[in-house]
Amino acid sequence: MSGTEPPPPQHRRLARPVTSQEPKNERRFAGIAVSGGVAIGPIFGTTEPEATITRHKIQAADIAAEGARLDAGIIQSRKQLGKLRARLGVLPEESQSEIAPLIDAYIRMLGPSRLVRGVRRRIEESLQSAESAVVSEADAIAAAIVAQAAPGLPAEDMAGLRRRADEIREIARRLVRNLTRAPFRSFAGLPDGAILVAESLRPADAALLDPSRLAGVATEEGGADGHTAVMLRALGIPAVLGAAGLAHAIRPGDIAVVDGISGTVTLNPAPPTVAAARRAVTAFARERQRYARLRRLPAETEDGEAVELQANLELPIELPLIAQSGAVGIGLLRTEFLFMNRETVPDEDTQTESYRTIVEAMNGDPVSIRVLDWGGEKEIEALTNAGLVPEIADANPALGVRGIRLLLRKPELLETQLAAILRAGAFGPVRVILPMVTNVAEVRASRDILERVARRLRRRGERIADKLPPLGIMIETPGAALSADALALEADFFAIGTNDLTAYTLAVDRADADVAALYDPIHPAVLRLIQFATEAALRMRMPVSVCGEMAANPRLTPLMLGLGLRSFSMSASAIPRVKQAVRMVEIDACARFARRVMEQSDPARIAQLVAEFGQPATAVRGD
Ligand code: PEP
Ligand code: MG
Repeated sequence: MSGTEPPPPQHRRLARPVTSQEPKNERRFAGIAVSGGVAIGPIFGTTEPEATITRHKIQAADIAAEGARLDAGIIQSRKQLGKLRARLGVLPEESQSEIAPLIDAYIRMLGPSRLVRGVRRRIEESLQSAESAVVSEADAIAAAIVAQAAPGLPAEDMAGLRRRADEIREIARRLVRNLTRAPFRSFAGLPDGAILVAESLRPADAALLDPSRLAGVATEEGGADGHTAVMLRALGIPAVLGAAGLAHAIRPGDIAVVDGISGTVTLNPAPPTVAAARRAVTAFARERQRYARLRRLPAETEDGEAVELQANLELPIELPLIAQSGAVGIGLLRTEFLFMNRETVPDEDTQTESYRTIVEAMNGDPVSIRVLDWGGEKEIEALTNAGLVPEIADANPALGVRGIRLLLRKPELLETQLAAILRAGAFGPVRVILPMVTNVAEVRASRDILERVARRLRRRGERIADKLPPLGIMIETPGAALSADALALEADFFAIGTNDLTAYTLAVDRADADVAALYDPIHPAVLRLIQFATEAALRMRMPVSVCGEMAANPRLTPLMLGLGLRSFSMSASAIPRVKQAVRMVEIDACARFARRVMEQSDPARIAQLVAEFGQPATAVRGD
């Protein structure tokens, strides 16, 4: 958004006249592979002019007029997005369900959002023009989001933060374009089967592309985690982003091969490159047809046994991914995110709002909320500031006051969190999970607190569900696993946390690279504990699931099914491949396999058996 008059929209297609004598050498550009598949076709280049904004101050007398101009810009932007959303109806169902949540997120940001509130404040208090206020506020919010990227945050979470910041900037760009009446990019004249090449492509532009007419996309800017990449993946358009120098190298009449698997773009491919690309196009089309069916297919074994596949959630920004994954609810909501990167402990209203957003987003599917699991490697500054945890860590934090132990020592923490969960439960089904439980007394004490908090909320006139949410426990210590039969009498469900269970059983620190080779979830000791806890739950007809990383490993799916497990919760991205593993096996075969595995005492032999049982074939059942 710079300071000159916007030039009219133009297409780079005619950047330089071409003669038939001009030699065309093959040139290859490396970029980021963001959407699988290979495409070959003529290039269509396009650019979008920058919007111009003025940074002038307005007069106090003009505040109301500037507010009205902002309102008009918002209404126009919402209308455009509404139209875009309606257009999604022509896309394949698969793509619709992935793109619609993103468009909805944009529309929500134009409602009573932090962005719009901040923009109004800037107009009223700092006398900024509407467009200037939009840019400043969006930059401030995006910077605050990116600042949450604490060291050690998993790559997926970092990507989520970047995506959220991009969302804010993207909606600001649209608003500014409407406020300044700058023209939008036009795809008129895009020939069928073309490769779209641009310096950059906005997510909303990507959503306008017609996958049945466009062969591929290549841009100079953009990364693998951004919304544009998400959109292109959702549309199934082969794409390479971040191919430096590409947009400036294209000439009219150029042909290109976009390889969205290796992340390369080849301009003017030589005959052998064209032949190889054609073969790849055919092979990929066949494979895609098979996978496209998978998400809509039920999670059930070959012989019709239903399996529940849910998502783990660590940050609310993962919600759109969960919606896309086909997960049926959230099996583990780690609430630590709410307490991290802030100086004070979040109060009941703040927590209620966060849980409610998540519960509502799940549209009636259950959300299992785990109360705060502080301790071990999970440091939380707000708790230290509030004097709720010691400033100096215990000598042996993994065996100290962590999880439910802290919550029962500082019941005000648990009470606030349970109150928020109960209140959010008025908007959809919730369940409560207690972390690091090792004995029945902890479950009884927690249930007493849950009941007391519910009574207090009802006295206060808060709307909560008539029936209290099920109270479950993590089975993540050998102590809990081995007393699962007793715990099953107190708890309403089990969530087996194989990460800590492996660590505590084998005395291996989860985060210590020096002993990483000893960290083995299919060590017979761990498997026996999982089996014992599972059987205790099944005898009581009590729900039991696995929510540690083991659940996300499709190689281990047959073994866990064979042990009697039918419910798994994992990161959203793992759901399709686990679903595929489920659909490729029969329960009887899994049970026989599990029996064989459980007869072994040598971890290496178990690993060999698992490898032999085989990773699910690439075919999708239903072919
Ligand atoms: C586990 O321990 O397996 C688990 C799911 O909990 P976390 O990874 O949050 O400790
Ligand atoms: Mg754990």
